[in-house]
Amino acid sequence: METLKTDILVVGSGPAGSSAARYAAEKGAKVTFIERRKEVGVPVRCGEFLPSIDEIRSMFPKAEDLEGTFELPSELRVRETTAIRLVDPKGRITDLPFIGFTIDRDRYDQYQAGLAAKAGAELIKECRFEGIENGVAVTEKGNIEYKVIIGADGPGSRVARELGLPRNRNPYPAVTAQAKGDFEPYVVMFFGGIAPGAYSWIIPKKGQANVGVGFSPKFADGTLSEYFDIFAKKNDFEIMNRLEGKFVPSEGPIASTVSGNGMVVGDAAGHVISVNGGGIPLAMIAGRICGEVAADNILSSRPLEDYEKVWRDVMLKPLKTAAFNKKLADIFAFSGAEWRTSMCMKLLGKRRMANLIRCKRIFP
Ligand SMILES: Cc1cc2nc3c(=O)[nH]c(=O)nc-3n(C[C@H](O)[C@H](O)[C@H](O)COP(=O)(O)OP(=O)(O)OC[C@H]3O[C@@H](n4cnc5c(N)ncnc54)[C@H](O)[C@@H]3O)c2cc1C
Repeated sequence: METLKTDILVVGSGPAGSSAARYAAEKGAKVTFIERRKEVGVPVRCGEFLPSIDEIRSMFPKAEDLEGTFELPSELRVRETTAIRLVDPKGRITDLPFIGFTIDRDRYDQYQAGLAAKAGAELIKECRFEGIENGVAVTEKGNIEYKVIIGADGPGSRVARELGLPRNRNPYPAVTAQAKGDFEPYVVMFFGGIAPGAYSWIIPKKGQANVGVGFSPKFADGTLSEYFDIFAKKNDFEIMNRLEGKFVPSEGPIASTVSGNGMVVGDAAGHVISVNGGGIPLAMIAGRICGEVAADNILSSRPLEDYEKVWRDVMLKPLKTAAFNKKLADIFAFSGAEWRTSMCMKLLGKRRMANLIRCKRIFP
């Protein structure tokens, strides 16, 4: 590939990258987005759960046009879910009404990348971003000249590093696989020694479920696949595919997401709800803000710092609350014996736990 020239270079074609690429292209900027993988969204490393638009709005009431950002053809909604079922180490169940649905994450990411392409963004696959030299992006397929670069390259963001931005501290590893069978329409989260410092999950799909385990390395005394095997045996799962894993930012957003003519977004920016590891909605919302500001920068010199201002206004408070609640959980519920986890869940009760999963304060 000869040196390619573009206005906006987006690195990564996950939800954050595709959303940024789509909204920047819709505004009329020349956008290129690059992806190191051969196929967008493959392999799937995700629980594949999405909250309904109303649930997203209850967490992030300042986010605009959620209907537009999250518009999805019905065939991509795999299974509707009505509640989140929390299971404490003693097996005690708390059902929290919570409307959401599951997706096939590969098809979801491909759909979002398709929307970006339809808006005019050019996608280059199998094109790993390697660094920035003299203001030009170096990729495995050649150099790319850009006016603005967006790092949507996931939790270990190389773009963040190249821009001199902070990177996620203490990300949690998590693994997932598909289990065959019919499962109830609840997202089930198991706490305690089965997933120290985090949780293991069953997220129902059609004729199968996404099952997985995340943990905090500081509370664990085995490997994640060992924990997964125990979880799978205990529930008699018939596992259908290879275990896939990735890191999840656990401490909330990084301190700064703009540097010079670069920005980072999504997991790269720590846009993840610390208490449950959910990041797709945030990647989409922040991706849109990022893409729109990048295009305005190209077309009318809007400062890139506006991106930081806007996403903070929309997301920072709930994300900080979630990160604070996660710290409390680490101190009081997760460090020590399982009975402490059970006791904390009992003390919190249904109402506070419902606040917890919606990024709200648990104490007045
Ligand atoms: C096991 C697990 C389960 C999860 N379950 C859920 C869930 O159920 N619901 C939810 O909302 N969130 C979930 N999350 C979190 C969610 O997956 C992320 O928050 C979300 O994917 C973030 O989107 P993103 O676009 O920022 O990053 P990613 O989806 O990670 O996309 C980054 C993209 O950049 C590409 N890339 C990386 N480096 C380079 C490079 N150097 N050059 C070119 N391309 C590059 C990657 O290949 C990837 O395609 C889960 C995470 C894990 C690990």
